[in-house]
Amino acid sequence: MKTVVIASNNAHKAQEIAHALPFPGWEFKTLREMGVSSDPVEDAETFEGNARIKARAAQQACPGCAVIADDSGLEVDALGGAPGVHSARYAGEPSDDARNNAKLLAELSGVPDGQRTARFVCTLVYCDEQGAETVARGTIEGRIGHEERGAEGFGYDPLFYPDVLDGLSLAEVDAARKNAISHRGNALRALKELIGA
Ligand code: IMP
Repeated sequence: MKTVVIASNNAHKAQEIAHALPFPGWEFKTLREMGVSSDPVEDAETFEGNARIKARAAQQACPGCAVIADDSGLEVDALGGAPGVHSARYAGEPSDDARNNAKLLAELSGVPDGQRTARFVCTLVYCDEQGAETVARGTIEGRIGHEERGAEGFGYDPLFYPDVLDGLSLAEVDAARKNAISHRGNALRALKELIGA
């Protein structure tokens, strides 16, 4: 069994990565389970850049281990792609889902349905035990609703209505259904294909 360290302090993300799809022979461990702390400053201007910062920092903290890092966020067309790489701290420090969602609704007040298109983006950086890097990306298209619905998932899920869900928000479906269509699930499927895992 090979240990792959999930380079994230976000328990929701780690849970989704560990259970989205089978990686035969892999055992996912969180940083916490490895008994290390790694919280590097994510100051790159791209998802890929920030994922790389997290992957490299985790590999330094867990020498000899393979690592996988996720950087992700929401791009809203009517806001010129915001909050984008700033999704986690859209409403300021500390990161707070409820305040982020309230700010998003306020910024979009008066924006009609047809102009509320958005997507979640996930970029994964996987570094094998030798440090060789593979980058994979996944997206999911949808719209920002007018109210929060559902209690599953995390972050902006209660406001995000995927095109493929026919009126349900991403927080109204269970983890398996989210993983089957989500940006993170799609990025993991792409990664699996790229590295033949
Ligand atoms: P990161 O830790 O800098 O990658 O922050 C990602 C932020 O994007 C999270 O804090 C959420 O606000 C948002 N986000 C990323 N993925 C998801 C998702 O699957 N559902 C809802 N929000 C997400």
